[in-house]
Amino acid sequence: MISVKKAQLIISKNIRPLGFESVLLNNARNRILSQDIIANIPMPQFDNSAMDGFAVRAADTKGANKSSPKTLMMVGVSSAGVSNDIILHPGECVQCMTGGKIPKGADSIVIVENSSGFLDSKTVKIFKEAKIGEHIRKRGEEVQEGDVVISKGTCITPSEIGILATFGCEKISVMIKPKVGIFVTGNELIEPGHKIKLGQIYNSNFYVFSELVEQSGAEIVMSEVIKDDKDSLQKSFSKALQVCDIIISSGGVSMGRFDYVREVYNELGVQEHFWKVAQKPGKPLFFGTMGTSLIFGLPGNPVSSFICYMKYIYPAIQRLQKKKKNPQHQGVLTDDFPVDTKKHRYLFGRSWINSHGKLLCTPTSKMGSHMLTASLGSNCILESPPGKYKLKAGDKITINLLNWGSSK
Ligand code: AMP
Ligand code: MG
Repeated sequence: MISVKKAQLIISKNIRPLGFESVLLNNARNRILSQDIIANIPMPQFDNSAMDGFAVRAADTKGANKSSPKTLMMVGVSSAGVSNDIILHPGECVQCMTGGKIPKGADSIVIVENSSGFLDSKTVKIFKEAKIGEHIRKRGEEVQEGDVVISKGTCITPSEIGILATFGCEKISVMIKPKVGIFVTGNELIEPGHKIKLGQIYNSNFYVFSELVEQSGAEIVMSEVIKDDKDSLQKSFSKALQVCDIIISSGGVSMGRFDYVREVYNELGVQEHFWKVAQKPGKPLFFGTMGTSLIFGLPGNPVSSFICYMKYIYPAIQRLQKKKKNPQHQGVLTDDFPVDTKKHRYLFGRSWINSHGKLLCTPTSKMGSHMLTASLGSNCILESPPGKYKLKAGDKITINLLNWGSSK
């Protein structure tokens, strides 16, 4: 049996990041950028108007008010999308729409509401004094040309999509998605939708894994429910070893009479790096490699396999795609946490920031590795290393936020 730290280290040493490929902008959602995105233009690209109004020289509007407006000559129109080279001389103004280029010589925008309006008249009355720079968006004020706007390793969310479009990127270089095979094993498993008999159990791991793999930004290329039967396991795993970057199995990896998974992996030539980790839940975790494929044999209990996925497979998928690591947080426990003297302890939990800005967390009261309802409403996994110490309410503990969990 090895420690959690050692297990994590062994896995990370065996990860060879995948290559990259080009995708179109509208297929880039949830992919990981393989290159920095550098601004090829400044943003804004030129000084432009933030409002519909008149470009003026602020000095020409000095003293203007409702009862004694200033009258300026209207010498042109500048609107978004139309390039113009109008030059503004003293005493002149230009109709300037939102996004329209600020003419040379102008230093301020008077909003249309403070003028006699967009009439087709040769002159315009200005009812309010303008301040220099007012309602002008300056070239490069948001992003300078050459700035790194998004760094490689970032996951592409709606914000990144928007910025990629803003800078005109049509094809995006992203990391290749890991190909994943999901296999759940057990003679007792029955699919949702079928009538259950005594002794059977509905297969939930398969559905949890499918969701988690999708959430992780990987691609499911194979999936099967397999009986506790050596031949069937052999057939499925050997096929998977040829096509998958990651193989995930659940069940059949403990000490039971019909637990053949580890044996079959070994017989197929998988190099075993560890089996059994000093942790609760998830002790019988198996990890091996074959070529560049990573093979994870997870125990069948639903909480064990869920937590093992989040603590070992999720980070592996991130590393394969050179994605930035999720940070851990330290939160204050509202209840005692059951530290184990010999095993790293994980529990689902709920965390939130209270009105004083303090990060608090409550571990689930459902401790059993078979109790998947513990994950309902959870937004984090709490963890404590083994040792002869206690974690009481008020003590700090490590929090791993679940990406999709909402705060309280
Ligand atoms: P095992 O690791 O195969 O000994 O399984 C441990 C426990 O997890 C048993 O009670 C199984 O019935 C349960 N289990 C195994 N696979 C699944 C699954 N796919 N969905 C739900 N429970 C499972
Ligand atoms: Mg089993």
